[in-house]
Parts: sequence; structure tokens; C-alpha cells
Amino acid sequence: MNLAESETIRTLLTGRDTVVVNSCAVTNEAVKATRKAIRRARRDRPEAELIVTGCAAQIDPAGFAAMPEVDRVIGNAEKLAAAAWAAPDPVLVQDIMAVRETAPHLAASFSTHARAFVEVQNGCDHRCTFCAIPYGRGNSRSVPAGAVIERIATLAESHAEVVLTGVDLTSYGHDLPGRPDLGTLVERVLRHVPRLRRLRLSSLDGIEIDDRLFALLTQEPRVMPHVHLSLQAGDDMILKRMKRRHSRAESVALAERLKAARPGIAIGADLIAGFPTETEAMFANTLALIADCGLVHTHIFPYSPRAGTPAAKMPQVEPEVVKARAARLREAASERRDTWLTSLVGTEQQVLIERPGDRGHTPNFAEARLTPPPFALSLSKGCSSFEEKDRASTSSARTGIGKIVSVKVTGIENGKLLGTPA
Ligand code: SF4
Repeated sequence: MNLAESETIRTLLTGRDTVVVNSCAVTNEAVKATRKAIRRARRDRPEAELIVTGCAAQIDPAGFAAMPEVDRVIGNAEKLAAAAWAAPDPVLVQDIMAVRETAPHLAASFSTHARAFVEVQNGCDHRCTFCAIPYGRGNSRSVPAGAVIERIATLAESHAEVVLTGVDLTSYGHDLPGRPDLGTLVERVLRHVPRLRRLRLSSLDGIEIDDRLFALLTQEPRVMPHVHLSLQAGDDMILKRMKRRHSRAESVALAERLKAARPGIAIGADLIAGFPTETEAMFANTLALIADCGLVHTHIFPYSPRAGTPAAKMPQVEPEVVKARAARLREAASERRDTWLTSLVGTEQQVLIERPGDRGHTPNFAEARLTPPPFALSLSKGCSSFEEKDRASTSSARTGIGKIVSVKVTGIENGKLLGTPA
């Protein structure tokens, strides 16, 4: 989401000598990295105006305003509005919990030339005990479907794939008139943007996947067979202490239902290692979840306390143990992923070509590298200096970036598929 928002901010500041640090507050390490980035930016651009925004700035505006390197601090609610960047206030940060309006300007997008990300929801009404995001992003707000469709219709002219993003995507619509849900939004996007070839959803809260959304994820060919779940742990006591709303059994049952309804669907998850009070037996339950849910895309986070969150006051696990458990989760996830990738060898996959033109992702989000590169190679054969110049350009017509190519999978290498154009 920060990428999509940074792109919008970049557009708002065209022509200004300004450095913007769009901060993250997901862990204490992220906040430390923000302070480091501010100091580096000031060293590199001593004359530029330096503005800090994002979650860390929203949570601690005074702390960032006190840094001598910083000229201004702008809050998360203000940062997508042009007026905020023109205002003179050194600190422009309102109470994020008071922000309730639906905001069409949230439909920010970020493009990688192949794939576009559209932010359709922001904020979160839940209060997981480890998470500081609601204090940075505020309560849940959604973008009305009309604004989302308009944005995607434009993006679909130049992008084969669009990803819907949000802080708590499955809360989509709860704040809108008539309370439309995420499934309804997906149906409307598919109906009103027939040109869109691939639609992908970012992280979902499994407990909120209703029948309509389940049917779309498992039956709609234009919705990619790839579900990323916010599971966090595989032990019921830890899930309770995290204040998550699902149980281990519900996670496993959902994964089984998804795989039964759409064989080949890839399931991913976020997992936290070393949450406070986690014993070795509790950790073993999370470790086993990788196999029990068949997780092939994982984001593993070693737990680190966030100031002001309830989990920060719970009995902590030793940092070396947290680190070692995160490493064990990563190792198990990597083995599971390799087994899955190996099972794809010999199949034909539709790969959306990304920069620099020899790689991309399959519908189930396996990364693939093409040998030989399908577009660059054909241009390199006996090309004249004129063609050489074209090859160096980023024109997608020449490089193939953004095209969907049929690929025969021939092997795997470093967690990626290898393939040749079919
Ligand atoms: S649902 Fe997600 S964003 Fe909301 S509090 Fe929990 S972890 Fe944080």
C-alpha cells in the first residue's frame, strides 16, 4: 500500500525539490529504519525540503518533528490531498481515529509496468494485540465501487493484471451505504471491466471469506488462483492472545476447502515467530501449519514488540529464540515451496512478463525465469544499431513487459521456476 500511495504523492509533488519519507510502523525495526532513512536523505539532499509522512509519523508526529533533519510532518489522513502538501504547517496530523469519511482519492495506484495495485480500503477496526497499524491508519474506510471501477478501467488499457489492496481488505464496504462486501466489488469490477485479464487480491482475513468471495476465488478464471491469508499463528492459545478471530482448525479447513474447490490454487500466509508466551510446543503448532495448510507463499515475521500495544506488556520470548524460530519457519516454508514448484515442472503456465523481460509470475504467483528470454532474444539476433537502441528502451512492445506468455516449465532454481516459451 505504501508503494501505491508513494506513487500518488510523487504525482502531487512534481517539480518540487522535496524528499518524502513515507514511513512504516509495522515493527520497531521499521521505525528505526525510517529514522536512518531520514538522516541519509538529509545528507544526500541538503538543500531539499524533507517531509515525513506514513504510519510512523502518524503515531509519533512530535518525535519526527523534533528531528533536526525534518522540515514538515504530514499525517496519513492528509497525505493524499494536494492541499496538505501546499500548506505551511510544520506538523499537519489529525486524529486518525476521527477519520471516517469514505475517500475516493484512496484509490491510489502503483504500477510495475506489468501489474497495477489499487488501494480500495484503508484502516482497520480490529485490534490484534501485536499490531500498531490501526493507530497509524485509523478505522476501516472503503472506496466506493464506482471510483474503483473507473480507476481499473483506465489501468486495464495498459495492464494485464490488477491487484486489489487494503490494510484489512475483507472489511471492504462495511462503512459504505448498503454495506457491499468484497465479493460484490470483485463481481462488479469483472462485469464492468471486461478488458481486465487478471485480478488478484492481496492478503485476506480467512474468517471473513463469505460464500460469494469463496466462489469467486475458486470458480472465476479471471480471479487468480492465489489466496494469501492473514493466519499469524497455528496455536489456539497464541491466536487467542493475539486477539485473532479464527482457530487453527478453521485455518486448516479453509485451506482444504479452497484446494478441493480449485485444484492448483496456491495458498500463502503471514506467520509470526516468537509471539510473547510462545512455548516450544505452541511454536510446533505454527510450524506444522505450513504442511497442514500446504502454504507455498509465506511472509515470516520474527515478533518484535510495538510500543503501546498489549502484546508488548506480555512476557517476552528471548530474542535469540525468536530469531531461531523464524529461521525454522523459513526453512520449512522453503522446503514446502520447492516441493510445490517441482510439481509444476512439465506443466504449461501463463506468465505475465515483468522487468527486465525474462521473468514474471504465473497465475498462482510462482516466479518464473524464461530461458531464452522470449523478447530480448529475438531482438538480439542480428539487430541493427536502430534495433539495439529500441531494445535498450523500456517500450513494452519491444521488451514484452506486460505481455502474458505461454511457458513450458522445465525445472526450478533458487525458489523460482525455469521455463521456455511454449
Ligand atoms: S486485522 Fe491486521 S491490520 Fe488489523 S489489527 Fe489485526 S493485524 Fe493489524
